[in-house]
Amino acid sequence: LSPDLDAARQCLAQVFGFSGFRGVQDQVVGRVLGGHSTLAVMPTGAGKSLTYQLPAVMLPGTCVVVSPLIALMHDQLRSATANGIRAAALTSVDTDREWTIERFRNGELDLLYVAPERASQPHFRELLGKAPLALFAIDEAHCVSEWGHDFRPDYRLLRPLMDAFPQVPRLALTATADRHTRADILEQLGIPHDGLIVAGFDRPNIQYRIVPRDNPLRQLTRLLADNPGPGVVYAPTRAQVEKLAEQLGDTGRRVLPYHAGLPAETRAANQEAFVTSEDMVIVATVAFGMGIDKPDVRFVAHAGLPKSIEGYYQETGRAGRDGDPSVALLLWGADDFARARQRLSEVDQSRQQGERTRLDALAGLVETAGCRRAVLLRHFGEDPPPTCGNCDNCLEPPGLTDATELARKLLSA
Ligand code: ADP
Ligand code: MG
Repeated sequence: LSPDLDAARQCLAQVFGFSGFRGVQDQVVGRVLGGHSTLAVMPTGAGKSLTYQLPAVMLPGTCVVVSPLIALMHDQLRSATANGIRAAALTSVDTDREWTIERFRNGELDLLYVAPERASQPHFRELLGKAPLALFAIDEAHCVSEWGHDFRPDYRLLRPLMDAFPQVPRLALTATADRHTRADILEQLGIPHDGLIVAGFDRPNIQYRIVPRDNPLRQLTRLLADNPGPGVVYAPTRAQVEKLAEQLGDTGRRVLPYHAGLPAETRAANQEAFVTSEDMVIVATVAFGMGIDKPDVRFVAHAGLPKSIEGYYQETGRAGRDGDPSVALLLWGADDFARARQRLSEVDQSRQQGERTRLDALAGLVETAGCRRAVLLRHFGEDPPPTCGNCDNCLEPPGLTDATELARKLLSA
């Protein structure tokens, strides 16, 4: 064990109150403390924040954290400050700007959170030149890649900004990146290829079930009846969220809706109710879930096709973070694929290939008569055993007729 990691373990206990590192956290922290730029691909809930927060506390100077959502940033800020870490944010909604800049320049901040738009502002670059820098941390780093599922053009401005400070190491973090996206992130952020660390993606306690949608209300009612614990049902549109929430509420369970069209107070109240509940169901668009830390979600259902395997993995990954048995149910229809193909023809030429690859990968997951988990893990570059024993196809191997029926449905899409 290097002396750095000994000191890191002490800091881990004293500042964060944790008894040990989890998974690949120690590898990532070790590299960062050694000054090596790194891309860490770790599943949601694996503890990515710690891998920059801990070096930020240990190293002299400030760790500048780029994060795509102000809400996410403020969650992080709250928990860091609660641990006694000196942290602040520079965003359009943070008002104590002068004081933050003052502290940053004086080396009195461990963490400075900034929105990616800031990277393009000459002011900000000047400011970086005047402050002691420890590390650049780029959260949700898949946003830099057009191959990723959430491309943010502002992320492209980070490389030139960071290149102006070549002595400062970079730590890029993401939960979801396939091989293509990983290579692209390394390239776009100027991180060497040997700086990639990938954590295991398997979530053995999640049971994957992917079935054709015949009567979604009946299928979801059944799911709720079988799973009395808290759960999330994702629906593709706001209108569908509203309707499903109402219909599922008739089953006697407490069901609340969540989507970006609801007033902010309603959203916050529904989210809070869900996070503290032991039996509630939230029906939501994919706007729900980012940064929500609820370990005992017993099921995640998709009433329609997710956008990509990455999205599916991230959304289903909100189930069972406590390690207890949980279910991921996806209801899909041939019309989902038909609509997705239709949309494909409408997107920008430059993005069509990426979108098509994404859709094909999703079709591969839905269509397989083999192990679902194997398809998922292979997608993320892992080499899985041929069967997992905990997905629909492993538990109830589909007959030849089912497979033919599935293929027919897909082809007619
Ligand atoms: P991610 O960004 O990878 O989804 P977070 O950084 O939000 O995950 O961390 C998820 C949860 O795990 C947080 O509640 C965090 O406090 C906790 N956590 C992180 N590292 C450890 C650790 N070494 N031991 C115990 N809990 C940890
Ligand atoms: Mg995170």
